[in-house]
Amino acid sequence: MQAVEEVGAVVIGAGFSGIAASIALQREGIDHVVLEAADDVGGTWRDNRYPGCRCDVPSHLYSFSFAPNPEWSSTYASQPEIWAYLRACADRFGVLERCRFGHEVLEAAWDSESARWRVSTTQGNFVATTLIGAYGPLSSPKVPEIEGLDRFGGRLLHSAHWSGSVLLEGQRVVVIGTGASAVQIVPQIQPKTAQLTVFQRTPPWVLPHTNRDIRPIERAIYRRVPAAQRLVRTGVYWLRELFAIGLCRQPRHLETVRKMGIKHLESQVSDPVLRAKLLPSYTPGCKRITIANDYYPALSAPNVSLETAPIARLDETGVVTSDGRHIEADTVVLATGFHVTDHPMASRLRGSDGRSMAEVWEGAGMQAYQGATVPGFPNCFLLAGPNTGIGHTSLIVMIEAQLRYVEAALRERSRRGAATVEVTPAALAAFADRVGRRMVRTVWMTGGCQSWYLDRHGRNTTLWPDFTWRFVREAHRFDSSAHRFGYAARPPRTEPVPSA
Ligand code: NAP
Repeated sequence: MQAVEEVGAVVIGAGFSGIAASIALQREGIDHVVLEAADDVGGTWRDNRYPGCRCDVPSHLYSFSFAPNPEWSSTYASQPEIWAYLRACADRFGVLERCRFGHEVLEAAWDSESARWRVSTTQGNFVATTLIGAYGPLSSPKVPEIEGLDRFGGRLLHSAHWSGSVLLEGQRVVVIGTGASAVQIVPQIQPKTAQLTVFQRTPPWVLPHTNRDIRPIERAIYRRVPAAQRLVRTGVYWLRELFAIGLCRQPRHLETVRKMGIKHLESQVSDPVLRAKLLPSYTPGCKRITIANDYYPALSAPNVSLETAPIARLDETGVVTSDGRHIEADTVVLATGFHVTDHPMASRLRGSDGRSMAEVWEGAGMQAYQGATVPGFPNCFLLAGPNTGIGHTSLIVMIEAQLRYVEAALRERSRRGAATVEVTPAALAAFADRVGRRMVRTVWMTGGCQSWYLDRHGRNTTLWPDFTWRFVREAHRFDSSAHRFGYAARPPRTEPVPSA
């Protein structure tokens, strides 16, 4: 029989949120393990190694508030740099030694009798008082249901499964999708390929990129005067909060963005036919706005064609369009996004009535109080959970705010000598109602597009529909009356009482 390891908490995932969770748990004095299916930390920044991968949120803000990095080489950091930053943080804050790599969580089920989570993985089992789901909303690549994908005889790869061994020199390449990933991949691979065909279902809005190198003198200042970098971070934060006015409150303000997008398109694409294909018909921001100076020029190159005919199927040698044309391909790249509203991990978390989180969410869609807690799932906290996604600023701001909530909940549980803390159905209903009322007016609901933000019923269960400072403020005020505390007949394994 496999040994069961008993710990205070299990964290699922070692990306941005898992690393931050481990640091928070250390602060609270709770022993824990971080279970990671892969062989390294980094989450989405470990997995997405496609050429050109770079964050579209400024680096000074897209980093932990408690671990500023004066060494960022450019204002929008590249994937290798962000990954290196996360590895350095995991090392510096003692997260690495708590990581169990190659441990894919198969199931985490609440055992009411022992008031513990029973977690089974591909490499062993754990029992924990507290469970933190830090598996990330963009961690499960979505392979589209296109007929014949399995018959294709060339190389088929998803943007999130790129590796250094992917060589495209002289190849005929098809890219399916034109979201944020494709917009970065296409300009990088275009010069290498013999022929590149990009399948576009919906054109993205593309704005000019303002990325620039950070000069050595700036880095020296950030190193010597950390307050200077904090000041820049604060400035970037508040500047980006202004975008929430257009995205969340008054989409009419996005008219300026539309004009900028059209100007960018017109200045970079001279062919009127291509221009017409590339002009979106929905309000900017309804889908995530992309930023690139090299995407339109790449599409205008002589070896590139932009296909807008739907894909009928793949066959052994390429792609067949719905109007019967055959496009030969050596490699097909799926830049087709992620399972966000149907993340597989939701089916692996089982609450007190035996139902999985996915089953609980079956009716009303994904819902969690502060994006973190769900009735029937005691001592369980999701990070970057439902309605914490962000269209205009850094997700790290949301994750850190959620962790303040988690820490407050754990402290209150300890203070009361309780075994469990669980959000009440009434508190979740009120929270979901507030989110729903704010959501109605957002561009994501009114902008005239289909996006990965919406679930199959058209509900936006992914994004936070307001300024982030409102979320942060709400998350920082722990409301005991929104929770119920359970007291075990047998006292649970003692965790050190954290200092208040
Ligand atoms: P995505 O935004 O979901 O884009 C998927 C693309 O694939 C869309 O163009 C979609 O078309 C297309 N598609 C899906 N199924 C298709 C099918 N069956 N046939 C044809 N086209 C199909 O995915 P992503 O580009 O990977 O980006 C996901 C998110 O990751 C982003 O929104 C962003 O939050 C994050 N991200 C950020 C960065 C960055 O920081 N720079 C970079 C990459 C990703 P439709 O639009 O018609 O659905």
